[in-house]
Amino acid sequence: MSKKGFIRLSVIFISAFIIVTILVRTQMPSAKAEILMQPITDSNIQPVTDSNSIEMNAVLKQADSVPQTVSSIPVSNNEQTISVYIYNTEKTVTLTIDDYLTGVVAAEMPALFETEALKAQAVAARTYLMHRLQYGKCGRGGADICTDCKHCQAWLSVAQQQKSWGVHFDTYSKKIHDAVYSTTGQVIYYNNQPIDALYHSVSGGKTEDCAAVFSEAEPYLVSVSSPGEEGDSNYKSQNIFTPTQLVSLINNAFPKAKLSAKNISSQIKILSHDESGRVDKVKVGSDTIKATDLRLAIGLKSTNFSISYKNDNIIFDVIGYGHGVGMSQRGADVMAQQGNKYIEILEHYYPGTNVK
Ligand SMILES: [Zn+2]
Repeated sequence: MSKKGFIRLSVIFISAFIIVTILVRTQMPSAKAEILMQPITDSNIQPVTDSNSIEMNAVLKQADSVPQTVSSIPVSNNEQTISVYIYNTEKTVTLTIDDYLTGVVAAEMPALFETEALKAQAVAARTYLMHRLQYGKCGRGGADICTDCKHCQAWLSVAQQQKSWGVHFDTYSKKIHDAVYSTTGQVIYYNNQPIDALYHSVSGGKTEDCAAVFSEAEPYLVSVSSPGEEGDSNYKSQNIFTPTQLVSLINNAFPKAKLSAKNISSQIKILSHDESGRVDKVKVGSDTIKATDLRLAIGLKSTNFSISYKNDNIIFDVIGYGHGVGMSQRGADVMAQQGNKYIEILEHYYPGTNVK
């Protein structure tokens, strides 16, 4: 082969190698992205998601704490329209507040839940929107809010609701429509400002102090009791790892840990719990990390966990689902079953606030 021919052939080979590498990389979700996807349970009755909450909200919460431009308090009447970025179609649409909220409640809370719980969810979701409009709009697609549950609030279109509810569509959509429209304009306030209405699926008996998760305290996001949630399918869960799996996940997320699969039980230790009983700090190998970070790195449903070892495996027994801050959706349903109205539910989970 001539020198020129050899160079040309080499260039072709190198280019092909680069293209294949790029293709493989772009199609491979990172291990971290994969484990952050929460399993969807009870899909036939709508998942209670960890929305308005998970790791992105930690980022948003920090961003929220230093508002670049604080708008005047937005008016929550249903004449007003908002722009909504539909995450799965990548389109921005204009909706009235309550039309948007029916999609949020449909996505965020099982339609089987009590009417008063659905009303509490509607007001919490409306308040979350008002807080975002005031302190920091979503910005994706130039919109006020988006439907990515890891960024703003989950949302289902009517077509998605039909698909999800099947023969129950008429009953469930009426129930949710009523919950939203019977509370039109109502928002939760603290000191006359719309609150940061965080919520989660299952608290496991006690909600979490905001400062423990988001490093920022709010007087109305403090730990309160939330009894009676034991019947929820997400109340208890278990994550089982082989030493190799756990070492890989932890060392990827926390390189300073330098965990090794051999004798792993001596390298992991729960160091402290916070006042709500959730794990606060964990020693992993040579590193000490926050349980909230460990939860995201290895895909636990909450930071209320204990660790045990069996047949060479590491077992995490977990109680509750979500960050635990603000309203527990299952707890709201339990309170509604006990005869509480939606305002009583909201004032329990967001103490010191009032709904108007
Ligand atoms: Zn968003």
